[in-house]
Amino acid sequence: MARAQRHGGRTALVDSQGSFTYNDLLDASSRVAAALLAGREDLQRDDLKREDLKEDRVAFLLTPGFPWVAALWGIWRAGGVAVPLPLNSTRSELEYFIDDTEASTLVFDALAAPSMSLIAAARGIRALSYDQLPARPPAELPDITPDIKDQRRAMILYTSGTTNRPKGVVTNHANITAQIMSLVEAWEWSADDRIVLCLPLHHVHGIINVVSCALWSGATCQMLERFDASAVWDRIAGGSVTLLMAVPTIYVKLIAAWERASPERRADLSRACARLRLMVSGSAALPVSTLQRWQEISGHTLLERYGMTEIGMALSNPLRGERVPGSVGRPLPSVEVRLVGENGEPVAPGTLGEIEVRGASVFAEYWGKPEATRAAFRDGWFRTGDTAVVENGVYRILGRTNIDILKTGGHKVSALEIEESLRQHPAIAECAVVGVPDPEWGERVAAAIVLKEVLNDVLNDGDALDLVSLRAWAKELLAAHKLPSRLLVLDALPRNAMGKVIKPEVVALFQSAGNGERVA
Ligand code: AMP
Repeated sequence: MARAQRHGGRTALVDSQGSFTYNDLLDASSRVAAALLAGREDLQRDDLKREDLKEDRVAFLLTPGFPWVAALWGIWRAGGVAVPLPLNSTRSELEYFIDDTEASTLVFDALAAPSMSLIAAARGIRALSYDQLPARPPAELPDITPDIKDQRRAMILYTSGTTNRPKGVVTNHANITAQIMSLVEAWEWSADDRIVLCLPLHHVHGIINVVSCALWSGATCQMLERFDASAVWDRIAGGSVTLLMAVPTIYVKLIAAWERASPERRADLSRACARLRLMVSGSAALPVSTLQRWQEISGHTLLERYGMTEIGMALSNPLRGERVPGSVGRPLPSVEVRLVGENGEPVAPGTLGEIEVRGASVFAEYWGKPEATRAAFRDGWFRTGDTAVVENGVYRILGRTNIDILKTGGHKVSALEIEESLRQHPAIAECAVVGVPDPEWGERVAAAIVLKEVLNDVLNDGDALDLVSLRAWAKELLAAHKLPSRLLVLDALPRNAMGKVIKPEVVALFQSAGNGERVA
């Protein structure tokens, strides 16, 4: 809060309703805090200063914008644990997050009111509509000293569970501060920065890398309610942003929008990109073809980084210096990273291993799951479940150990490497490689592909890309055991709200398709 006071009259946020200063944020968040603490007025003034929410969970469902940030800060100022809920969740998903965290209060806007008030009423928990905040800031708010606050839980984010129900990842205030400070240092954030938020706000990428780094630095965050390619291009063209951070699928959509534009507009957009100082990609592997196309369009080499809900960001290509396509660079400041083999011992350079991470930015626990928390650590190192290899000092991600590292005919192969090769095929727009259980091979390499639209239209039935022709084409790029032996052509890959392919769903598609096209 002291940092925000220093930035006082500067613009903190811009949303569809207008522009808001750091003072506006301090005022609105104090009113959120007061509303959360209401009902404690019977306490003496000194007790009130000491009495806070003491880590009560407050779940909130708000559209990205000024109220979202005011709610987050208000919950923290009242001593609560913030549980940002994903927009577009089903009722039963919302109920799961609210019940799992045992939230004591729900905060929401008019859009979310119908479902959230019903959920609150059914559980007898407090419902607080953002539109009904007290008009005036409170005289006093709890005085939570930094040493106590640091170790207090601050936020619970749900991981995109694949087979099991999602786990709540708990970070305390010290974890969050460490995550922010590491990025502010590495990417040289300053008060002059202006960033456009085009990511959802239930995930570390939008919450920490974009909104929190901006506000920590005294910068300005322009918040879109949801991703919209033309709105992002308008911000870039308007010259009002210095930074862009997004997931690979967003860059793919920005490329498609640029390609649909008129030649004059394209030239304007490309010229405007020169005014940005940094463009970052992460949260999923960035295809080299996307990096190259974006380079042609914008003149920027995307800075790819690697991170996870549990650790914040861990690896990054450099702000200054060579960014290696297909790699995620080196450890960020104050983050320790190592690769270990199946025995838990560090591996020799050039050998693939599991990424383990240690440092103040690593999360505190899985909410209510001490066993899962214990299992996630080895000698104080967090086991990410991602496999990587270090080449010339930089890390290359090979994928989730249990999903993307396929075991086929006694070989270990990386689905991400095969995908990178298949994307070079002129007819393939997108692809996802998975291992499908097979009694003979252990797992078969199975490729789900989406054809490029133009080619899809002109291909006659006889020309359709089939498994035999794909294998014949790919054998120049891939060793025989890496060639797909199952193929599915889809209209779209199943993806989550962050644009990541949901691989278990791809496996299920192969399983329900039966044997399909197969080569022994
Ligand atoms: P989440 O916790 O939703 O952010 O997902 C984290 C996971 O995304 C990691 O464990 C990786 O599997 C994946 N991931 C994040 N960044 C990258 C990247 N640059 N390249 C490949 N995978 C990534």
